[in-house]
Amino acid sequence: MPHPEATPLTRRNLLTLAGQSLVATGLASALPQAAGAAPQAGAGGPVSPPIELPPLSAPTEQKQPGLPNPMPPDHRVGYAVVGLGHIALEEVIPAFAECKRSRVVALVSGSPEKATTVARRHGIDPRNIYNYKNYEDLRNNPAVQAVYIALPNSMHAEYTVRAARAGKHVLCEKPMATSSRDCQQMIEACNSAGRKLMIAYRQQYEPYNREIIRKVRARELGDLKFITADNGQNQGDPMQWRLKRALSGGGSLPDVGIYCLNATRYLTGEEPIEVFARSWSTPGDPRFKEVEETMVFELRFPSGVLASCTCGYGNHRLQRYAVAGSLGWAELNPAFAYRGLRLRTARAEGKMERVTEEQLNQPNQFSREIDHFSQCVTEDRRPHTPGEEGLADLRIIEQLYASAQAGHPIALPPSHGLDVTRGPAPAEEG
Ligand code: NAD
Repeated sequence: MPHPEATPLTRRNLLTLAGQSLVATGLASALPQAAGAAPQAGAGGPVSPPIELPPLSAPTEQKQPGLPNPMPPDHRVGYAVVGLGHIALEEVIPAFAECKRSRVVALVSGSPEKATTVARRHGIDPRNIYNYKNYEDLRNNPAVQAVYIALPNSMHAEYTVRAARAGKHVLCEKPMATSSRDCQQMIEACNSAGRKLMIAYRQQYEPYNREIIRKVRARELGDLKFITADNGQNQGDPMQWRLKRALSGGGSLPDVGIYCLNATRYLTGEEPIEVFARSWSTPGDPRFKEVEETMVFELRFPSGVLASCTCGYGNHRLQRYAVAGSLGWAELNPAFAYRGLRLRTARAEGKMERVTEEQLNQPNQFSREIDHFSQCVTEDRRPHTPGEEGLADLRIIEQLYASAQAGHPIALPPSHGLDVTRGPAPAEEG
């Protein structure tokens, strides 16, 4: 039985490697064109219906995404981006250009020069530049409905709580915080202010990951047996905040290992009932005086699925996972990259094994994630990855560190049901 939240993908392109034949299947479903949906309360006037053009290709060809039909600027949710470092400048702010429901209208930075340059480049009104001291003045700016927090991990809690108190919705980068206690404070602050909180788990809004979730939940790979996931990169400057425990909360585990951990949870929909970890840092490496270099960890899920994950801070980039079922497997490699994801699946079919590469539309992952949050804000929906999703990861991370220190597995309290920490699956758009 497919899981009720499993979202069927409408466009897929199957490249059959084993049979050297290209099989294109355009599966058009009658999903609503959400980007052209009616405007919400508070938005500026009615929006005309989405534009549709007659198709150019034969009906047997792969279905192309429809016209983008973005919301007009005055109907979009306005964001202040908080922290102008790598992820903000390289991915998040540029991604707004591909958003359909969201726009960046303000910046929060400790550097007025940098903020002014960024504002000029992205057409942001320089009067909408804030710093970490006058952050609360966002309260008086109705153009800003939400903040996107892209600060070092230990600052997420403070800037979430302050934003909620200033009446703003919060989209916060992963890891949600550096402790589960901070996560709880963030959730409570947003709840008591009546503001929405979402953690920026971009991979949960991305078509390849959504397709593997669908395959697993529809049991297309048979009974799920195990998951392997690896995420590692080679860190540079020993002085950067990622290598300072007070700012990062840990080393490779909360930064890149969290992708593996989160993947095992969203692929199964389950919460682990036992964890076991081992960590290692190269002696004398100045980068790993305070935080771990490599962490290997295992998770046991109630259905019997076992997961084996590795994360590293001293290895050449490796970002992959595989799910193994009784009838087949699916492998995403790279799995956690911003773009260029590749999916291979295998199934036994009589005398042969069919190995298939599936090519899907690859929209901007950050645009997808941001637009999902905007939709939740305008339509008063629960985000797919709310604060509870980030809290669950932090609780497990804390137990993984405890296990690595103790040298034995640690049992976790059981939880019942699937996707207990998630809101409804995101709508497919484009
Ligand atoms: P970064 O170091 O490039 O940027 C951090 C920003 O915070 C800088 O502009 C810096 O000036 C500012 N800052 C304010 N106070 C600071 C302080 N006390 N120390 C250091 N910097 C301070 O980091 P980044 O790579 O942009 O990461 C920011 C957040 O985004 C982190 O939580 C990280 O985990 C997350 N992230 C997410 C993804 C993703 O794919 N979703 C990718 C990279 C980073």
